[in-house]
Amino acid sequence: MKDLLGNFGGYDIITGKKIKSPKKRQPVTRSQKNYILDVQRNRCAICKKQLKAASTHFDHIKEVSKNGKSTTKNLRALCANCHYERHNTDKARKADKKRKPTPSRRRDPFGLSFS
Ligand SMILES: [Zn+2]
Repeated sequence: MKDLLGNFGGYDIITGKKIKSPKKRQPVTRSQKNYILDVQRNRCAICKKQLKAASTHFDHIKEVSKNGKSTTKNLRALCANCHYERHNTDKARKADKKRKPTPSRRRDPFGLSFS
């Protein structure tokens, strides 16, 4: 199975199976949150600022709508600012996509190469 970096119209890039999209968001447990914060040393994954409990957001690296799971591997802690920025960027990206007919195969399934 080729590792194609792209989500082709609702097909899972790993299994190649059609994604059913109930868009179910699994809850992130307290222990998962603690683990992620520990790994990130209590800092935002993007700007590296110290996270405050009240403004810590847990972001799905692979979006839930794209079959991203609530696992510690697919989650990261962001400050409110970066979380907001990220979803704004996503929206802008989607809007861009609709305008450009050329499919991009550089979509990073883990969302790590986003600016
Ligand atoms: Zn941040």
